Amino acid sequence: MDTSILGNALDRGVGYLGPRREDVFGLEVVTGRGELLRTGFRRLGEDSPLAHAHPYGLGPMLDGLFFQGNYGIVTSACLKLLPRPARSVAVSLALRDVSKLGEFLDGLALLKRLGVMSGVTHVGNQARTRASMMSGISEYLRISCGVAERDLAAEADRALATVAPYEWTSLGGVAGSAAQVKAAIAEVRRVLGGIAKLTVVDDAKLAAGFRLLNPLRNLWPWARANAAAISAIRPLQGLADGRPTDAAITNLLWRYGQPQLPARELDASGCGLIFINPALPMAGGAVVKVVDAMKAVAAGFGHELYVTLNIETTTSLVAVANLLFDRGDAAAVANARACARALWEYLRSCGLEVYRARADMMEDVVDPQDSFWRTAWALKSVFDPDNLIAPGRYNLARAPDA
Ligand SMILES: Cc1cc2nc3c(=O)[nH]c(=O)nc-3n(C[C@H](O)[C@H](O)[C@H](O)COP(=O)(O)OP(=O)(O)OC[C@H]3O[C@@H](n4cnc5c(N)ncnc54)[C@H](O)[C@@H]3O)c2cc1C
Repeated sequence: MDTSILGNALDRGVGYLGPRREDVFGLEVVTGRGELLRTGFRRLGEDSPLAHAHPYGLGPMLDGLFFQGNYGIVTSACLKLLPRPARSVAVSLALRDVSKLGEFLDGLALLKRLGVMSGVTHVGNQARTRASMMSGISEYLRISCGVAERDLAAEADRALATVAPYEWTSLGGVAGSAAQVKAAIAEVRRVLGGIAKLTVVDDAKLAAGFRLLNPLRNLWPWARANAAAISAIRPLQGLADGRPTDAAITNLLWRYGQPQLPARELDASGCGLIFINPALPMAGGAVVKVVDAMKAVAAGFGHELYVTLNIETTTSLVAVANLLFDRGDAAAVANARACARALWEYLRSCGLEVYRARADMMEDVVDPQDSFWRTAWALKSVFDPDNLIAPGRYNLARAPDA
């Protein structure tokens, strides 16, 4: 599926090391007035040694206006690149006791702040793990083990229960020299080893595990379950190492019974997907309370909530929560929309807000009485006075009453 890295950064998507917004500076923008604007030191011209090097420039930092701003079309940007580390591994932690989720998140926050796991660690609930792995597991069982269609769902369930029996599992990365990685893993174990089962994986380990277990698949159910899990995990582990994958879309297509469709045809499937993604403080106890309440709201509409908690910055995290429904069923669509609205209302009732908003949420999230949004509108008249660029997206749709 084609999505743009720049679009993701401009919408403040989640990157590998933190918010993708922090990887981007020095924008070239065509404003709604048709003027070409270069932010930071790119205003000095592309030949300036500072143009692609100094992220701030001199004077007001205009860059921020073009993230979730829609004041102009960004036509190019500087992207910070890092050298590939000598060694990088994925670290998975399976929380043994669901009641320790707050402690678990606080431990991951500490590791983030200390720079031990400086990237974004993703903590998924069982529904998310299931959604991420079932298509890979089922395909392995069907193709490599010859499991018949009628037995596939039950066998895949058994395999998943063998390899991922816990409610919350995290996946993050550790990178550096071999000695740094070894020391970091020891520190992760020291902080969280008491409450979570730690597994370290890299390409070589996954390949060796698969070579060992795959030949045993028809002799030993445990080997079969683990070989299936490895084949499901490989694309996700590759993603952490910079190899693009369509796995997230493939999983949805599989879930909606159309695994044969190419990823770019997701829209042609019946898959309905609504995200409600709150920004949250980095405080385990508070996060648990919100997640539990959101699950209860979703359950009231007959929905299971798919949740990932991303340890994104040293002070905050973002949750990705989504609802899945059949887009061909008008009642299911209406119910999912009502559920999404109830979830957002719950968040607002406790002083929280989403960190990215769907286009259909704008009338709710943008308040014409709020001086913040009135200022956002005033800036629109500076950069895009005819309201040409994505009207109403992250802004008022029209001039507010005086
Ligand atoms: C199954 C699934 C899983 C996903 N998982 C993740 C995830 O893990 N992490 C994550 O961060 N996202 C995730 N996403 C969201 C998706 O990756 C982003 O929406 C996508 O990267 C944004 O790219 P786009 O081309 O769709 O941008 P668009 O939706 O076209 O644009 C995003 C925003 O940026 C603005 N914009 C885009 N291009 C420009 C430009 N050149 N100049 C000015 N403004 C611009 C748009 O107006 C809009 O406000 C997921 C989506 C799906 C469907």
